[in-house]
This record gives sequence, C-alpha cells and structure tokens, in this order.
Amino acid sequence: MVVGEFTEQADLVVIGGGPGGYSAAIRASQLGRSVTLVERGDIGGVCLNVGCIPSKALIELSNRFHELDGLAKRGVVTEDAHIDPIALSQTVTGSVERLTSGVRQLLKAADVEIVEGEASFVGPNEVRIRAAHETSRIKFKDCILATGSSPRELDGFAVDHQRVLDSTDLLFSPVVRRDLIVIGGGYIGIELGSAHARLGTRVTILEMAPEILMGVEPEIQRTLRGVLKQMGVEVHTGIAVKGFKIAGDAVVVEIQNGSDSKEIRAGSVAVMVGRVPNLGPDLGLGEAGVTIGADQRVIVDEQMRTANPHVFAIGDIVPGPMLAHKAYYEAKVAAEVAAGHAAGNDATVIPAVIFTEPEVASAGLGEQEARTRHGDDVVVARFPYRANGRAIVLGAAVGEVKLIALKDSKRLLGVHIVGVDASNLISEAALAIELGATIDDLALTIHPHPTLSEMYPEAAEVAQGLPTHIIMQRG
Ligand SMILES: Cc1cc2nc3c(=O)[nH]c(=O)nc-3n(C[C@H](O)[C@H](O)[C@H](O)COP(=O)(O)OP(=O)(O)OC[C@H]3O[C@@H](n4cnc5c(N)ncnc54)[C@H](O)[C@@H]3O)c2cc1C
Repeated sequence: MVVGEFTEQADLVVIGGGPGGYSAAIRASQLGRSVTLVERGDIGGVCLNVGCIPSKALIELSNRFHELDGLAKRGVVTEDAHIDPIALSQTVTGSVERLTSGVRQLLKAADVEIVEGEASFVGPNEVRIRAAHETSRIKFKDCILATGSSPRELDGFAVDHQRVLDSTDLLFSPVVRRDLIVIGGGYIGIELGSAHARLGTRVTILEMAPEILMGVEPEIQRTLRGVLKQMGVEVHTGIAVKGFKIAGDAVVVEIQNGSDSKEIRAGSVAVMVGRVPNLGPDLGLGEAGVTIGADQRVIVDEQMRTANPHVFAIGDIVPGPMLAHKAYYEAKVAAEVAAGHAAGNDATVIPAVIFTEPEVASAGLGEQEARTRHGDDVVVARFPYRANGRAIVLGAAVGEVKLIALKDSKRLLGVHIVGVDASNLISEAALAIELGATIDDLALTIHPHPTLSEMYPEAAEVAQGLPTHIIMQRG
C-alpha cells in the first residue's frame, strides 16, 4: 500500500461522469443508493464538453450564417453578414459551461458525492483513485463503469493541435480557416467538416470506405453527397492516406486511390476516424473480473451486468452505437437494477441523427437489412419534402421520409429521413416502432397542419397506394 493511502467504504461507485455516468448516479441516488461518482476530467464527459453540445452549437451557428444567402434570395436581405470568430467561439464555450454547471447542480441536489481522480480496479469490489496530490481506495458494494471513449489515432498523423487537429480543435479554435482536409467521412467528420464549410472554409473530406456515412441508406448518402458538393465540399472516397509533410504554411497529405497516388494540401488536417472505448490496462478490468469481447467492448447482459455481478457497464464501452442517448438509457437500466428494481435493456431501436444540413435521421431497420430478414414481405414508401406545405414555407424542399414496413402485417420496421428537422421528426418513428405501430396507425393518426410531421401519414398513404399530395403512377 502506498504510504498515506486510505480506504473508504462506499455503497455505489460510478466511474466516469459523462452522460452515462452522471445520469446513472442521479437515478441510483433517487432510488435510495448512496452514490460516489469518480471523474478524472470534466463532469459531463465527451458529450457535454467536447462532443454533442459544442458541436451542435457550432453547427447551429454555421447553419444560420449559411441560411442568410438563401434568405436574401427569398426577400430578407441582411447586409454585411460576417463571422466574428471570437464571439462565435465564446458562444460554443458558453453552451458547454451552462450545461456542465447545470449537471453539477443536479448531482449536488441528488446528494451524489463527486471524487476527482482516475479510478482503477484493484480487486472485485475495490478501486484505487489517483488524484493530483493523493491516492485513495474505495471498497464498494456495487459499481457502474462508464468510462466512455477517446478519438481513434491514425498511424502517421499524430495530433499536434497546430497542423494536425482533432475534433476538439475544430470546435473551439476561434478562427475561420482558409482550407482544411478532414480525414474520416463518418458522422463526426461530416458534421464538423460541413459546419466549417458553411463558415467559409474550403473543406476536403477523405474517406477510406467506398462511401461516406457507412450504414446510412444509399440514396440518403447520395443526397448528402449532392448537398456537400453544392456547398463546395470535396469528398473523396476509397482513399488511403499514406502520410503528410509540412511545406511552408501547408500540410501536404499523400493519398492513394487504388494504384493512383497524389498529394493534396491545405492549411491543416483534422483526423476523425472513429473512437475507441476507454478500457486500457490502467483500468485494471482483470482485477475486477470484468471481461471484454472480440469487439473490444465490455460484455454485459440485458441488465448491463458484467461478468462481475457487482459491476455494471454502460455507454460507449459496451456494444452498440457510441451515442449519448444510448448511454442515458443504459444508465437508467443499470441504476435501477443496482437499486433492486426489475429493469432490463429491451429497446427495439436506437435512433441515430447526423446533424448535417439537411439533417439525416434513422430508427429501425434499413431497407437492405429488412429484405434480408423478411424477403418479399417488405414494403417501402417515400414522401418527398417538396410535397409538404411546411417544408415549402421553410424553404426546405430537399429530402424525403422513407418508411419500411412488413407487407402483410403492415408493422413498421424502419424510418429514414433526410431533410430539415429530421432530428426531431425521428422520435415519432422510434415511438411508433417501439409500440409496434402499423402503416395504418400512422395514416390514421391526425397530425397537425402545416407541419413536417404530416409526412408520416402521407408516406403511410403512399405505402397504402392512396396518397393525397403526390401523384402515384397507376398500375
Ligand atoms: C465531436 C462529437 C460529437 C458528438 N455528437 C453526438 C451527438 O450529436 N449525439 C450523440 O448521441 N452522441 C454524440 N457524440 C457521442 C457522445 O459524446 C458519446 O456517445 C457519449 O459522450 C458517451 O457517453 P459515456 O457516458 O459513455 O462516456 P463519455 O462521455 O466519454 O464520458 C466518460 C467519462 O469518463 C471519464 N473517465 C474515463 N476513464 C476514467 C477513469 N479511469 N476514472 C475516472 N474517470 C474516467 C472521462 O474523463 C469522461 O468524462 C459525439 C461525440 C463527439 C466526439
């Protein structure tokens, strides 16, 4: 034992204060557990500090700026619109500060004790906490592990935060760059790349896979590529990046496309090639008897319990998409189980949103997967934004709502949307799928007019072959 190290007893220890950890702590406390939350960095985790919140603040501002062009064409002329990078950066930081201090207050109100430091397991029911000036130990009855994820590194592109950047650099640096190369065409690269393009940066996106946003419906990928092209964003797919050199004030990236290799240059390059769970050897998972699967995530059952029945795991470190709302959901399951309630992870769908302009959102099965599982018993129906009154009023005629359902029972299997406000529209789809709704349920539910949500009953009517606002070929 380290000299001066002391051991405390705790009822429930939560490791990690991101959306998973802090919401698990609050729920467990509400249900009567006495909770200690250990965080090595900032409360709020990736989502509040360097992820969802600041990125959406930046995206929102870049959208508003970009919209000014369109507004001028529609009769609202705003002279001399320009970006003040410092004020813009302060707005992004302000949104983070507001939310993180709010979460601290919630934790305080819930009587959650916050311990600053890095936790590692030293046994099946004990952690060691290393803080700046001391080391301590906590023996726990139960533990919820929510250590989240970090950016995946790319060989040959060590992030120096000057020329080679990560997503955090793109969120907080108070400059509008002249040009930028983004390595990675996943949702973070596309969201942040296109936000910077809307602020005036010339952006080139390099993706290794044959298409950007892998997993998204192919026609939605195409729509988005069209939008990016219109915005002046260059997208190169099937590209291997080989390395880079600095030439004067430029970064020169060597790329290979099949047998062709060439160089492209820009003032900086941002690496956004995915994220890896924070489950390194320092965490001491072996000491706790917590096991990891082939996908490098913690193995859990439907109650979020690991191989150690007193240790639960949630969020980015367990299988499934790395999304904050998934972490929130799993947090509540784990906290409730830890408090002795009969909870379980039985979600049918985890909706996903890509905050591009227009937005992309999905819930449930894709068309290909639906056909693989259900063969001919599948019906697909689409309704375009351009046939919706509200979309016209908003000047947002690009996009569509795509429904996928079973042909015989008409049960809804999946919904995919590209278009303005898809992020809000998708919740209705998630609820409908969770409740086992059918195409007829959607068609017969009265939706307010004029709203974008009317595209649900309209698309359902297309599936029934009886659309009101679009012309369908007969026969
Ligand atoms: C740029 C960007 C944009 C994103 N946008 C979205 C979005 O729009 N919507 C969405 O749903 N998701 C988004 N995400 C993903 C989202 O941020 C994550 O899915 C979410 O934060 C995961 O929550 P978590 O609680 O599992 O982990 P995290 O938020 O990663 O939190 C884990 C916490 O644990 C702490 N920790 C780690 N190890 C230890 C240890 N040993 N001891 C003590 N503390 C430790 C870390 O410091 C961290 O604070 C985005 C991510 C990024 C990077």
